[in-house]
Amino acid sequence: MGYKDPIMIDLGTDGDRERCSGATLVRPVRARKLAKVPFVELADGRVQGVVSSGSDIARVYVSSVTADGHGLSCSTNNNRPCGGLSGPYACKHLRAMLDEAVLQYGRERVARYLRVEVGADSDVLGALDPHHAPAPAATVFSRFLRHLAYLEVPEADGPVPELQWFGATRTAG
Ligand SMILES: [Zn+2]
Repeated sequence: MGYKDPIMIDLGTDGDRERCSGATLVRPVRARKLAKVPFVELADGRVQGVVSSGSDIARVYVSSVTADGHGLSCSTNNNRPCGGLSGPYACKHLRAMLDEAVLQYGRERVARYLRVEVGADSDVLGALDPHHAPAPAATVFSRFLRHLAYLEVPEADGPVPELQWFGATRTAG
């Protein structure tokens, strides 16, 4: 065949629509409704993450705990300090972020990262010796945005070069 059929789209029948879907179409991510804690990681000497605001869908908080000295930080992505964090008392965002970290990485691993011992039925937060140490939200927030962007990378058979940074997608040989 030296030519391509013109693509005919007949919205009336599903059969014709099938014909022109030569490439795998990736369903767009549904209207962005953020999970309570859409992003959490153990990185840069911190357990850090992004927590969506319970009241305002457009606002997110960036919460972090440093492994060294257990400095607590919580602010909006625009660096407005969180009103719920005072002194050594963690706000609900920090609690939610740590809960999610434990869910994703396991209690042992989070505890080890924060250099604390946790008993069988005590929580990580209770084992900390925290103090208030505001940290800039921008780094964590931009990592979160990258993370979101990669959720939308179309499915591909080959390795995605930028993802090699994560180590796990390196090609064999
Ligand atoms: Zn907070």
